Amino acid sequence: MTQQAFNFFKQSLQGLLIGLKVDKIPSYLGGTLGLIVQKFGGTSVANASRIKQVARKVASVFDSGTKLVVVVSALGDTTDRLIEMAHQISSSPSPRELDMLLATGEQVSAALLSMALQTLGYPAISLNALQAGIKTDNVHTKAKLLEIDTERINRELKEGKIVVITGFQGVTDADDITTLGRGGSDLTAIALAAALKADLCEIYTDVEGVFTADPRIVPQARLLKKISYEEMLEMAATGARVMQTRAVEYARNFKVRILVKSSFSESGGTLITGEEEIGVERPIISGVTFDVSEAKLTIREVPDRPGVAAKIFGALAQAQINVDMIIQNISQAGTTDISFTVERTDLRRAEAVLKEVCLELGAKGIEVDSEIAKVSLVGAGMRTHPGVAAQMFKALADQNINIEMISTSTIKISCVIKASEVNKAVQALHRAFNLALEDIKEGEEV
Ligand code: ADP
Ligand code: ASP
Ligand code: MG
Repeated sequence: MTQQAFNFFKQSLQGLLIGLKVDKIPSYLGGTLGLIVQKFGGTSVANASRIKQVARKVASVFDSGTKLVVVVSALGDTTDRLIEMAHQISSSPSPRELDMLLATGEQVSAALLSMALQTLGYPAISLNALQAGIKTDNVHTKAKLLEIDTERINRELKEGKIVVITGFQGVTDADDITTLGRGGSDLTAIALAAALKADLCEIYTDVEGVFTADPRIVPQARLLKKISYEEMLEMAATGARVMQTRAVEYARNFKVRILVKSSFSESGGTLITGEEEIGVERPIISGVTFDVSEAKLTIREVPDRPGVAAKIFGALAQAQINVDMIIQNISQAGTTDISFTVERTDLRRAEAVLKEVCLELGAKGIEVDSEIAKVSLVGAGMRTHPGVAAQMFKALADQNINIEMISTSTIKISCVIKASEVNKAVQALHRAFNLALEDIKEGEEV
């Protein structure tokens, strides 16, 4: 039999088995008939030719007999441009209207990808959040997922279609459109994979997977073959924007296996999974990350008595302002200084809240520094390697970089430094911990 004839025979048989609702196809006929959720980020669908390229990639997986749900982000930097437009109209746009606006980006790419697939001769259908049953609360611009009603998606899948779904969007009980926070298409994909009990969630992006550092800052960064949910969560939360933090958290809670891969190459990518699948091949340090999105506030000469910290941070919490690192200095003459970091986008609101609290407490005043960066080292091996913090501080000191704040968790150490020194710091840490070399296993010397 020629290869062509064999493929035709295989596809006919697969079709027959789908018709008979047989879920698995023997491996000699092309593997299993599982379900995969694939997500393509903004750069991957930036223009018509890239959308056609994505369509060909999707089609080739569909040809192997796999059922497919495909989640897309908005084209290129559409979301940024839409936010800019909103701010040209209003200095504080209504969050509901902002969501109406931002959600349009993903609808464009879902429709275009579905058209591209249809043009190649594949049965595809695009669905938005309302049609796909993606239900959220009504906290606009950072809505929480409540449930996914998979009835429509399953119906389309049963009819043999490739289902293309808008990322980032949700819908409230009252049918209002919401969005899931920046980078939220990752969360859409992971949540759909969990709800549909998919075998795998593939996140296609513009780099080959998760690296030991942002490859744009450290060209020698090494691709990680595997990383645990816990480590990926810390990497995402400390600035590695390759995966949205909430999406990793969701994947960990629902045990969704994730493969991060490039849309533009055939490299194997990075598997994000549970500790049990990581095995003993684990490095001490997984990566170096950085975040330049925070600002530092210092309250000078706060009276040092019980209840003061509760008052300050209580007021910030009430204003929905997240605080990251906190340092309280040693008390002198009955007063102390308290420094902490917040998202720079919350800075003005935080200042306004604190002015009132300062007056009430009789503190001397507030200082603001928005030129800061946070560099972090993440690695599960830190639990059993006490020398890591000292080595990190020495690597920064050797570059004459001053550390302004430090915070640690069991698998992470973060330092706040000057923003202008961030690239130098990331590169120095990557070098000091030999992260470009093949995995250093636990038990070996750093
Ligand atoms: P997408 O639009 O596909 O969601 P993002 O821009 O959100 O893509 O995320 C991919 C980017 O994340 C990469 O281009 C890379 O510069 C950045 N990045 C930061 N840290 C890392 C890391 N440790 N590994 C891989 N990429 C990283
Ligand atoms: N388009 C949205 C954003 O830019 C969602 C995403 O790309 O994941 O944040
Ligand atoms: Mg992203």
